[in-house]
Amino acid sequence: MAIDATGVQNSATGRDVPLYKMIIDGREVDAASGETLDVYNPATGKLLGRAPKGGAVDVEAAVRSSRAAFDSGSWSRMSAMQRSATIYKMADIIEARREELALLETRNAGKTLADARGDVDYTVETFRYFAGATPRILGDTIPVRPDFLTYTLQEPVGVCGLIVPWNYPLLMAAWKVAPALAAGCTAVLKPASYTPLSVFELGKIALEAGVPEGVLNVVSGPGSTVGEALVNHPLVDKIAFTGETYTGQHILASAARQIKKVTLELGGKNANIVFEDADLDAAVRVGISAIYANNGQACGARARILVQASVYDRFVEDFTRRSSGLRVGDPLDPETQIGAMISQGQVERAEEYVGLGTAEGGRVLFGGRRPVLDKAELAAGHFYSPTAIEMPDHSSKVMQDEIFGPVVAVGTFKDEDEAVRLTNGTRYGLLATVWTNDLRRAHRLARRIKAGGVWFNTEVNFFTEAPFGGYGQSGLGRELGPHGLDQYAQTKVVGINLGEAGNPFNV
Ligand code: NAP
Repeated sequence: MAIDATGVQNSATGRDVPLYKMIIDGREVDAASGETLDVYNPATGKLLGRAPKGGAVDVEAAVRSSRAAFDSGSWSRMSAMQRSATIYKMADIIEARREELALLETRNAGKTLADARGDVDYTVETFRYFAGATPRILGDTIPVRPDFLTYTLQEPVGVCGLIVPWNYPLLMAAWKVAPALAAGCTAVLKPASYTPLSVFELGKIALEAGVPEGVLNVVSGPGSTVGEALVNHPLVDKIAFTGETYTGQHILASAARQIKKVTLELGGKNANIVFEDADLDAAVRVGISAIYANNGQACGARARILVQASVYDRFVEDFTRRSSGLRVGDPLDPETQIGAMISQGQVERAEEYVGLGTAEGGRVLFGGRRPVLDKAELAAGHFYSPTAIEMPDHSSKVMQDEIFGPVVAVGTFKDEDEAVRLTNGTRYGLLATVWTNDLRRAHRLARRIKAGGVWFNTEVNFFTEAPFGGYGQSGLGRELGPHGLDQYAQTKVVGINLGEAGNPFNV
């Protein structure tokens, strides 16, 4: 369905809204039960449409379709160059539909149009990267004895259950679908219930590009039924999940019963560490976008700012002054920098943590409230002002928990040892950003910080070509780059005796 800039027709009663379909075995279908989920625009609170509320029966059909597609070899045994060309075609179609997909993402996820365009661009890049990697999935020849030829084969894992969150609906799907397809796997993709719309489009784009029927199925529906059924299905070989640490723990425990392969991209409470020798101006500018982009609803949000005590006051003053100019509002307005949060629940969560922060001895530096917006159509939207809380206690919940909102906890450290101790002092370990001009210190910290990524003097926190993932309770395995592709392949060793067979038992 084409989505225009004015949005889909919406009646006050919620009738006449589009009925979206999921994709099973190459066909756009409703849930077997006929039930639907309401899908809203979080900036306006208006109903965007209805999505199928899939259940175990739909998962069964989708998994059987993916299993049959895998076992038939229609995808896994297609030549690597042909598979690569098909994935490149997906990238081309996504690129050609950039504006439409960005608009759909903005309207369904509440993020600004600029952010949504960025997500679509990264989605294109992800598909191109893995399309290019497809013919480079190589094995090794292993020198053993002279009378043996021993080599490895990289084979696709099989049927993958791909479960994605609502904060980057299309991009998180791309991070899983692209390497899974590149490796020759087939998949059942489950979008988050808040944000299925762009994921349905991705399923249709795969078919349009020539991905055979059944290779990529999309089943929408609650995590408690569709997600559970996927995780527990005996014909699913692997689960790749992005979401909350708590959900990841549960999935890992369930998958253990069948020794399913599992990759998990979970939460974070990432530190932004500012040393006194840093370019403070840059540290402030990037510090602002590093927390408030996507309303702080990002696993990579730098939600703790740790500033060396000697420059703390200067940093905080500048951070506060510049943050006061941030424009919160209609995500479709090109002037807006911070759009809507996904739900009222997320707004309340931010609010609760701000209350908790003050109860824990913190001081609100700015924000800490819902903004007053001048557009009547945003009255029922989910908005929260960019907020900073000075938290002297690094063991407080505001410093330790992932809030997943536009709330940053700010504190001080006195020296490098303390900076390392505080940075490593949470249960997470996704990434860290460090601001310093001391080269030797940078290399020391790169080793001492316990995180899947450590970035120096930059706003960048991932590259499609490089691995992304967490230490500690931030996850298991890696996405992106060659490491990400490896997660969808398994290694087989082959040994060929070039001489006479032995007779170990002398029989
Ligand atoms: P979530 O509640 O864990 O949900 C994620 C996905 O899992 C959704 O599709 C959800 O379905 C599904 N799900 C829920 N319960 C399930 C179950 N029992 N079995 C199987 N699937 C289940 O997370 P979220 O609130 O959508 O996303 C926010 C979290 O994602 C944050 O913690 C954030 O840090 C993390 N995240 C991590 C990364 C990373 O790369 N490390 C990237 C982005 C986000 P429903 O929508 O139907 O509930």
